[in-house]
Amino acid sequence: MSWYRSAARDKSSHVIHTAIKSLQGRELGLSDQTKGIIVRRTRIVATIGPASESDEVLRNLAEAGVDVFRLSMAHGDIPSCIERLRRVRAVAPGVAIMVDIPGPKIRAGSFGTSPVALPHGHRLEIVEAFGSTSTAEVISVEREGVLANLKVGDRVHIGDGGTSLQIVEVGSVVVAEVVAAGSVMGKPGLSFPSSILNEHLPTEDDAARIAALRDEEFEILAVSFVRSAFDMVSVRTALARPDVLMMAKIETEEGINNLSEIVEVTDSLMVARGDLGVRLPIEDVPHLQKRIVRAGVRFARPVVVATQMLETMTYAQVPTRAEVTDVANAVLDGASAVMLSGETAIGHDPVNVVRTMDRIIRRAEESFDYAAWGEGLELNQTVGDDSRAARITAAMTGAAWRASMQEKAVALVACTRSGMTARAISRFRPPMPIIAITPKESTALQLKVSWGVNDVIVTPANDIDVLCDLAVKSVTESGIAKSGDSIVVMAGSATGGAQITDTVRMVTIP
Ligand code: PGA
Ligand code: MN
Repeated sequence: MSWYRSAARDKSSHVIHTAIKSLQGRELGLSDQTKGIIVRRTRIVATIGPASESDEVLRNLAEAGVDVFRLSMAHGDIPSCIERLRRVRAVAPGVAIMVDIPGPKIRAGSFGTSPVALPHGHRLEIVEAFGSTSTAEVISVEREGVLANLKVGDRVHIGDGGTSLQIVEVGSVVVAEVVAAGSVMGKPGLSFPSSILNEHLPTEDDAARIAALRDEEFEILAVSFVRSAFDMVSVRTALARPDVLMMAKIETEEGINNLSEIVEVTDSLMVARGDLGVRLPIEDVPHLQKRIVRAGVRFARPVVVATQMLETMTYAQVPTRAEVTDVANAVLDGASAVMLSGETAIGHDPVNVVRTMDRIIRRAEESFDYAAWGEGLELNQTVGDDSRAARITAAMTGAAWRASMQEKAVALVACTRSGMTARAISRFRPPMPIIAITPKESTALQLKVSWGVNDVIVTPANDIDVLCDLAVKSVTESGIAKSGDSIVVMAGSATGGAQITDTVRMVTIP
């Protein structure tokens, strides 16, 4: 029985029965939890596409354990993107929605629906043209002004890295030679040297999409090709939605070089391995993944590891051993979430992919060293910038973690409006469940990308005694705690406009 249903049925409870709002059928995060044991902590993000946008598949994906649906704004016009977003929300209201804006992603005109071979040493022409097709002889680029900046010797990658070209002639015609053979189809992305992407974010196209999104219901905005803190702040300002969690996709060399300034101004990060792997040496990718995850954890920013995680399952029934190991290693690296792209967007069996990923994660979490992770974090490091609010939040959540480990608390309860307190304790990757009690549905959904956070919606309360009562009710009704157990309750306040976790209380269940 879900926690929500059992709590709502308890008419004798003077607190919880008025406190837990109707969720219009939404399941709480705890619904698949039994006997106080959280089943899966690392979250699953699934990209929606032609293979998964029917109502039936969406429902089955939610059931299989998807925490966040990613909707790319790169495909289709704005009205169809908005229509899809509304339908996904209506069909699966308990799954958070991440909207992904494409940034200066350059695509080739379509090669058609069957593979076009590009053999080693083959020469072809590159032209700028919109709406035309590409062939083995002429590739059309759907962007003005890129060819003028190319130099002889520049590399151009097609798609996610298999095929690449080297520029051999510039001037009235641009000629390239195939240096890594491959076959291409559809409208693959073209990766030019990043000096050519000298556009600031949001691009004109992104800005139009952001404007159309302003009144829509979604929780996370993923921003492609973020190269600086300035890019991120500009997009945040353009969207002007404080209730939306901003996610910086790290996928260029500049994004890596400016990681520390980006992490300060973003709410969350994505290790966008697809584009990273064509813009930086591919052997750097595993190490960049670890670096970006650590940077995110240090600042209490959820980090999503993305791209090619179970790639062969796009067409195969079973993943490769290497892919299974990759997902498990992302969990062990401390990722908050792992992402599926083509596997669920265009794959032959998206639901099977999610079930497979769910199994791999659960198994990896059995081998995760929770105590060592928490101990490895410097307890006095800041959460966010080095402000007083950030320092106090770090100190208080560090104390909450230490006390919960020492006293073997059965749960950590974060009372949170913005979600900040829950994210600040989540970075310790504690072995006991984290329960986020929040009055805001948008916060509850945003926390679906945070590691190990179970969300519960309650009516607003400020009084710490009332919050502790809610916390006790939540953990006893759900079967996590029984009389005599300890829980640690954290609460925050907004002091001078800054979110701050300033209360920690050890509570014994009566
Ligand atoms: P994309 O981003 O799928 O939107 O390109 C992820 C990546 O580059 O890995
Ligand atoms: Mn990308």
